[in-house]
Amino acid sequence: TVGPRLILEVKEISKSFPGVQALDRVDMDVREGEVHALLGENGSGKSTLTKCIVGAYQKDSGTILYDGKETSFSSPTESFRQGISVIYQERSLIPKFTVEQNIFLGDEMQVSGLLSEKNMRKRFRSLCESYGFDLSPDEKIFRLGVAQQKVVEIMKALSRNSRVVIMDEPTASLSKEESDHLFKIISQLKSKGISILYITHILEEVFRITDRITVLRDGRKVSTLNTAETDREEIVNLMVGEVFHDI
Ligand code: ADP
Ligand code: MG
Repeated sequence: TVGPRLILEVKEISKSFPGVQALDRVDMDVREGEVHALLGENGSGKSTLTKCIVGAYQKDSGTILYDGKETSFSSPTESFRQGISVIYQERSLIPKFTVEQNIFLGDEMQVSGLLSEKNMRKRFRSLCESYGFDLSPDEKIFRLGVAQQKVVEIMKALSRNSRVVIMDEPTASLSKEESDHLFKIISQLKSKGISILYITHILEEVFRITDRITVLRDGRKVSTLNTAETDREEIVNLMVGEVFHDI
């Protein structure tokens, strides 16, 4: 039988910093339209893996396949153009610019001067309609709360037709209601076939929204499991314990 289509395959990725083996031959893959959790304690290598995928860091060794083709992105700008976007832990929008300006900043049409204000507004409205976003295009970013800023980052990702959205601890500074809204957005993305790599250390979220879980510990992948076939205890053991196994 033909398995689910893989959009991203990471094979034996290693990355070290002076004195630290941040990633040690890590394998993982992401299926089309799945929410895949990347779990691990602080310092286990989650952010480093993400940064190697999008070209923010250059890996020491290993290969990455994107949509079946071996790929090596030179920068996050390039991976973003190719359809992989990251919602970073740190804020990445320009505070003095408006919502709409931030969304279309760096867009190929915009860069080449071909995106008129009218068309920008049209694209903005159609994004709002298809995902139920409710934001004013002319609002300055610094006037928005953290949750709304996350929404703008997600809109930016969607405006470029991203196929993979990597979210690095997206609920870190969100309230419960704001997190719930984010989870709704995630399930909408999923239903459109977009894949989410969801980085967190919060187990409740993992069991609520993800399809599979990959656990990292000290730079090594300890396991990939189907969320429906595991439980809290097993995951905690994998994160901190001695057990190694796989599906
Ligand atoms: P996580 O996101 O799971 O908390 P990180 O990927 O940030 O973990 O870090 C993994 C390890 O790599 C840690 O020991 C961290 O200190 C180290 N590390 C990450 N980025 C750098 C860097 N730019 N320079 C030196 N060490 C780094
Ligand atoms: Mg991190």
